[in-house]
Amino acid sequence: MTRLVDSFQREITYLRVSVTDKCNLRCIYCMPEEGVGLKSHSDILRIEELARIVRIASQLGITHVRLTGGEPLVRQGILTLVCFLSETPGISDVSMTTNGVLLPGLARPLREAGLHRVNVSLDTLQPERFKKITRRGHLRSVLDGLKAIEDVGLSPVKINTVVLKGINHAEVEDIAMLTKENPWTVRFIEFMPFWNNGWQFGNRYVVPIHEIRDKIMAQGAYPVESDAGRDDRKDKSGRGPASYVKFPGAKGSIGFISMKDHICSSCNRIRLTADGFLLPCLLSDISVDLRTPLREGVKDDVIAGLIRKAVSLKPENGQVAQTRATCPGANPSLSKIGG
Ligand code: SAM
Ligand code: SF4
Repeated sequence: MTRLVDSFQREITYLRVSVTDKCNLRCIYCMPEEGVGLKSHSDILRIEELARIVRIASQLGITHVRLTGGEPLVRQGILTLVCFLSETPGISDVSMTTNGVLLPGLARPLREAGLHRVNVSLDTLQPERFKKITRRGHLRSVLDGLKAIEDVGLSPVKINTVVLKGINHAEVEDIAMLTKENPWTVRFIEFMPFWNNGWQFGNRYVVPIHEIRDKIMAQGAYPVESDAGRDDRKDKSGRGPASYVKFPGAKGSIGFISMKDHICSSCNRIRLTADGFLLPCLLSDISVDLRTPLREGVKDDVIAGLIRKAVSLKPENGQVAQTRATCPGANPSLSKIGG
């Protein structure tokens, strides 16, 4: 079998695909109220183009694709794309990260199209706070969405919670308690400053993730080896990027993620932006344009060569690469890169 290996002997098996830069929410930590400057419609890859890139990547050794955005469920043709990807030989895992708002109506069709599992972003269980954080949308739709994915068997369910000082950090215990009765993995994520989302305000929202872990441990949780479900990325001992704990007798588990703890040495991922650039590292400004050659009508082996090139450019360490970033577009918000 073909393997995609970078210059530091890391095997790349995981592709995150941003399918749109549009979103139906405006989370305060992700984008400004007015939204981010959207790319023109013609710049965004078409469904067939996305599917073609994934097919070629699968022949090189990519086995897992995660669809993200922006909000992937606002993308027209998303079901067709999931269908294409789930039928692509070599792709054994098709997952999605979504804000969950549209899941009540889409969980079943997504399941039928072949989606395997979903991560849902949920930062609060308080309806008013939900409005404050997302600036629009209703908590009810996300809760109904969680129920819908469970009902159709899109599991294991993971919940991503960005912890924001002074906004939701007093609620982390309540959110963690969801794991007592539900077989869900709740993952607390340290707020990352990006352009367009508060970088200019310094670290005012950041709560160090170890403080959250301490809080949860103080409630009686104990460390577990890894989460119950599969993680997207594991080190040689099989651990993912989050450390996990569990409440006694709980059905689910709780994880803690910080970019500072990012394990570059075991990173197995690359990202495709909605407008067709391949990013070998979230933190560096390196990108390889696939859209232009794709639209010039090049053959598959040219695209394959460009994917290999992007992988060969993957820096050893993202934090170091970030300090050397020269491009003014480096470090844009996650909604642009595809979080
Ligand atoms: N719209 C989808 C969603 O919200 O799940 C997918 C895209 S979103 C950019 C992907 C993930 O990035 C979400 O879990 C979101 O909470 C997280 N995220 C966005 N901005 C962030 C930031 N500044 N710090 C930490 N996580 C962030
Ligand atoms: Fe939209 Fe997701 Fe960003 Fe929130 S985190 S604004 S839902 S892309």
